[in-house]
Amino acid sequence: MITQFDLIVLGGGSGGIAAAVRAASYGAKVAVIERGRLGGTCVNVGCVPKKLMWNAASIGAAIEEGAGYGFDVELRGFDWPTLKRARDTYIERLNAVYARRLESEGIARFEGTARFIGPKTLAVRSPSTGGEVSLGAAEVVIATGGRPEIPSLPGAELGIDSDGFFELEDLPKQVVVVGSGYIAVELAGVLHALGSRVCMVLRRDRVLRAFDEMLSDELMQAMQADGIEIITEANVQRLSRGEEGLEVEISARGVDGDRSSIVRKTDRLLWAIGRRPEIDDLALEVAGVESDSSGAITVDAFQRTSAAGIHAIGDVIAKAPLTPVAIAAGRRLSDRLFGGQADRRLDYENIPTVVFTHPPIATVGASEAEARRRWGNDAIKVYRTRFNGMHYAFSERPRATAMKLVTCCDEERIVGCHIIGHAADEMMQGFAVAVRMGARKRDFDDTVAIHPTSAEEMVTMR
Ligand code: FAD
Ligand code: NDP
Repeated sequence: MITQFDLIVLGGGSGGIAAAVRAASYGAKVAVIERGRLGGTCVNVGCVPKKLMWNAASIGAAIEEGAGYGFDVELRGFDWPTLKRARDTYIERLNAVYARRLESEGIARFEGTARFIGPKTLAVRSPSTGGEVSLGAAEVVIATGGRPEIPSLPGAELGIDSDGFFELEDLPKQVVVVGSGYIAVELAGVLHALGSRVCMVLRRDRVLRAFDEMLSDELMQAMQADGIEIITEANVQRLSRGEEGLEVEISARGVDGDRSSIVRKTDRLLWAIGRRPEIDDLALEVAGVESDSSGAITVDAFQRTSAAGIHAIGDVIAKAPLTPVAIAAGRRLSDRLFGGQADRRLDYENIPTVVFTHPPIATVGASEAEARRRWGNDAIKVYRTRFNGMHYAFSERPRATAMKLVTCCDEERIVGCHIIGHAADEMMQGFAVAVRMGARKRDFDDTVAIHPTSAEEMVTMR
C-alpha cells in the first residue's frame, strides 16, 4: 500500500524542515523522512554545537582580558566534559522542539532511510525493524544535505572528521587539522583557544582561498601570532598509530622549493577538506534525477531537478552550503508550490556569511580579486582600513580589525564588504541589507556613525 501526500521531504535538516513547515502552513499534506536526529547537520553536528564551542573560546578570552579592566580574575582551568554535557543537553532540547513543531503543524514524520522506488514514490526503511513503508506524493523535495569528505590514503580512517570532533569526550592535547576552509579554521581556532596545541596542514599557501585576500592574510597572521603552527603547500601522506598516539607523515615544500618529508606526532588528526552531497542511498536513477561529477544534484533557478515534480535544496545541491540558504530555498520553494507565488525563488547573489574564527570574519559580495575579474580593473575602487578596536584598549595581545569596501563603476556601488575583527559576526547582517539594496559608497558616507564602535569605521572610510 502506498500512502499519498501532497509533499514528501527527504531529510529533516535545515532546508527540509523549512520547506515542510511552510508547505503545511498552506494546508498541504506533508511528510518528512529523516534517518537521524531532527535538525540535521546544523543542529546536531554543525552551526549550533560549533557556535557553543566558539562562545566558550570567546568567554575564555574575555576572562583573560578582564584583568586589564581591573577584574581580579584568573583563568584557572577549563573542563571539556562539562561543556560537552551542557552542549549535548541543549541539542537534545532542540531535537525535541523540532519534533513538537512537526507534530503541531500536522506533518507526518517517518524515521528511516528514504530511497526512490518510482518517479515520485519512495520507500522508507526503518533502522530498528528493517521494515519498509511506501509513500507517494505530487511533489518531492530532496534535502539530504552532505557529509564530510575523507581522503583515501594509508591510515586515513585513524583521523576524525567534524562529526567526530563533536563526539570527543576530552580536549586533545595536540591536534593536526588538515584543510583550509571554514571547518578547518573554525575548529583549529576553537581547539587552540581551549588549550590544544594545533598544527594546520594546508595543501596550498593560504586559508580561506575563496575569500577576499585581506581576510585570509589577516586570519593567518592572527592564528600564527596565537601560536597555531601552519604548514603550507603540504600533503598528508600517511597516518599510523605510534606508541604515544598518531604519527602523521607530511610531504611539504621547503623554502628552496624541494619537497621533504616531515613527521608530526599528535593525539588526533581532523580531516576538514570539504563535504560531499549525501545522495548514495537515494537511488536517484530510478526517479531520473541527475547529479554532477561531485554528486551535487543539478537544479534550475527554481530548484527543479531533471525529473518533473522533484526538487532539491540545501547542501545536496552544493551551492552556498549554509543553513540560512537551505532554509530560504525551502521556504521559497513551498511558497511557489503551495502558496500561489509562481515566481518565488531564492536569489543566490550577495549571500552574507560569517566564519567563526578568532577574530571572526564577516563578508558579503565579491572579493576584490573577483570584482576586478568580473567588472574590469578600471571599474573597481577599493576602500580599506585597519585599526586596533577599543575592546582591546588594555590588552597585551590586541587583535587588529580590518575592513574593506569594494565599489564598482561611476556610482561606486558597493559590490563587496569584508570585515575581520572583534564583533564582525554581529556587524554584517545590517550591511548585507544595504549591499542587497544596491547601496553606493556615498550612502555609507551619508550615514551617521554610531560612536564609539568598530562598525562606525564602515561609514567613515575615505
Ligand atoms: P542537513 O542539515 O545536513 O540535513 C539533511 C538531513 O537529511 C540529515 O538530517 C540526514 O540525516 C538526512 N538524510 C540524508 N540522507 C537521507 C536519506 N536517504 N533518508 C532520510 N534522511 C536522510 N552553516 C551556517 O550557516 N552557519 C554555520 O555556522 C555553520 N557551521 C557549520 C559547522 C559545521 C561543522 C558543519 C559541518 C556545517 C556548518 N554549516 C554552517 C553548514 C550547515 O550545517 C548546512 O549548510 C546545513 O545544515 C544544510 O542544511 P540541509 O537541510 O541542506 O542539510
Ligand atoms: P570548504 O569548502 O570550506 O573548504 C574545504 C577546503 O579544503 C577546500 O576549499 C580546499 O582548499 C581544501 N581541500 C580540499 N581537498 C583537500 C585535500 N585533499 N587535502 C587538503 N586540503 C583539501 O569545506 P568545509 O568542509 O570546511 O565546509 C563545508 C561547507 O560548510 C563550507 O563551504 C560552508 O559553506 C559550510 N560551513 C559554514 C560555516 C559557517 O557558516 N560559519 C562553518 C562550517 C562549514 P584549498 O583548495 O585552498 O586547498
